[in-house]
Amino acid sequence: MRAGPPRGRRPAVPRPRPPPTGRRPGPVPPRRPGRRRAPPPAPPPPPAPPPAGGPPPPPPPPPPRPPPPTPPPPPTPAGARPRPGPPPRPRRGAPPAGSADDGEDDDGGGRQEPPAASGPLKGKVVVIDPGHNPGNFQHTSEINRKVNIGTNWKECDTTGTSTNGGYAEARFTLDVAHRLRTLLQRQGATVKLTHDDGSPSWGPCVDERARIGNSAHADAAVSIHADGSAPGNRGFHVILPAAVHSGAADTRPVAAASKKLGTMIAGNFVRVTGEPPSNYLGGGTGLVTREDLGGLNLSTVPKVFIECGNMRDRTDAALLTSAQWRQKAAEGLSEGIVSFLGG
Ligand code: ZN
Repeated sequence: MRAGPPRGRRPAVPRPRPPPTGRRPGPVPPRRPGRRRAPPPAPPPPPAPPPAGGPPPPPPPPPPRPPPPTPPPPPTPAGARPRPGPPPRPRRGAPPAGSADDGEDDDGGGRQEPPAASGPLKGKVVVIDPGHNPGNFQHTSEINRKVNIGTNWKECDTTGTSTNGGYAEARFTLDVAHRLRTLLQRQGATVKLTHDDGSPSWGPCVDERARIGNSAHADAAVSIHADGSAPGNRGFHVILPAAVHSGAADTRPVAAASKKLGTMIAGNFVRVTGEPPSNYLGGGTGLVTREDLGGLNLSTVPKVFIECGNMRDRTDAALLTSAQWRQKAAEGLSEGIVSFLGG
């Protein structure tokens, strides 16, 4: 995503994650009813006795199939780093890490796994929004139509940017999303992507991306992007929703929680990846607040965007095109989300 103008608010410097035994700093945002995932379904009640003289009752429905057995992960103390992901597979003909464009999409993190049977994120729902869609390039008329984002009308979606070597942001975001999904599922989370594997073939529109998180009653939602700014501009920044109330947009109930989520992601992202906070937005905090993004404005769950780096900067592009670095990016995101969710 191309960066928009920075907004006036300047959040605090990203804080490192709390010590392992500590509670999350600051006030804990209140949980709204209904955001929790319901407990496992109870067994069906026994059939009621048939009325006298009535037809025999239908047979009870079969019980839901239990999930496939999954070995539980080793116990993870609160605040500890999760297990590292599998080492990226070497790819046929892959250029060395750090080359301008390895064009690498997948890694072993792209396969969807069921949530682990237990883990610090058991019962938590995380929605991952891979920014843009690789298919958007073939559907420009569809993605150019305007949708209402509460404060304004904006394009349904955009194609996103790319490195000078042609590595598309949409491929980057999907790859990091896959890696992040794997890490979160290993810790027990239920993870939903807003699009995946070409379905839908374009979009979804930014308003729908927000609705997906809302409908899932996500405990946290993150939209993954990489920026398309000028060379020399580099570093990551996390975008927080401003507290807006306009039209269908009302982020006031989740603005504080989103800020907490974003602050924890920023602190963990910089620690795990070594990527510096943006040198062109956010005043060195790695945090920017905006009120012009439909994906944030229309969210009723805690949600942030992250611009993982600047695809148009040589230094950042070398990182963004590296599978090893993308794994680090996913780990930084995962640890931020775990911190936020109290895992
Ligand atoms: Zn983007």
